[in-house]
Amino acid sequence: MSKRILIVEDEENIADGLRLNLEAEGYETAVAGDGNKALNLWRQGDFDLILLDIMLPGKDGLEVCRTIRKEAGRIPVLFLTARDREDDRVEGFLAGGDDYLTKPFNLQELLLRVGAIFRRQVWYGSSKLQTDRLRFGDFWVDFKSYRARGIEGEVELSQKECMIMKFLAEHADEVVSRDMILDAVWGYNIYPSNRTVDNFIVKLRRLFETDSTRPVYLHTIWGTGYKFTPSGTKNEKA
Ligand code: CA
Repeated sequence: MSKRILIVEDEENIADGLRLNLEAEGYETAVAGDGNKALNLWRQGDFDLILLDIMLPGKDGLEVCRTIRKEAGRIPVLFLTARDREDDRVEGFLAGGDDYLTKPFNLQELLLRVGAIFRRQVWYGSSKLQTDRLRFGDFWVDFKSYRARGIEGEVELSQKECMIMKFLAEHADEVVSRDMILDAVWGYNIYPSNRTVDNFIVKLRRLFETDSTRPVYLHTIWGTGYKFTPSGTKNEKA
């Protein structure tokens, strides 16, 4: 069955261009011109991905994404935006987006990103790990329910947080570079910036490390990347 993509874009010519190109690639599409219509269509429909413009009349794209995540929607979201400041990009990811493309964008680039997001879904669904529940110390991460137990009890994780933990667990006790994480979790290693990975690690440490400055599980290997040690070894100086 072909993948269904919801296009949320208020500029008709851009929406039409996206629709035609995605349909030419074999995707099914629906178009919403504002945030409320987007949420209504998402609630009714069985979509596999949302292309979400940020500057929209009424509810903006970030708010639409937050609402979807609050309603436990795990659908991948690719933000489209005219703004290109780094901070906006980070804000987009923190609102639960999967990727971010700045207008004017190249259609080939967009199709590549869309393909990469679908490949990440396949990787996440078919793991080398023996179990859906990663256990370390008193903690666990459940890759199916997107829940975890951290130092403050049970919490909900975002899809990206789960993907990063899954990738680190697949490479337990190995040093992995930021580029490897970007490549596995975002699907290419140019964009977003390495800082995005660091921001996610900071957040994961807040969940699983009693003292973030002296991590026991999620170690920084200076100049290289990160290492996850499920048995909880002390930080080794690299
Ligand atoms: Ca717009």
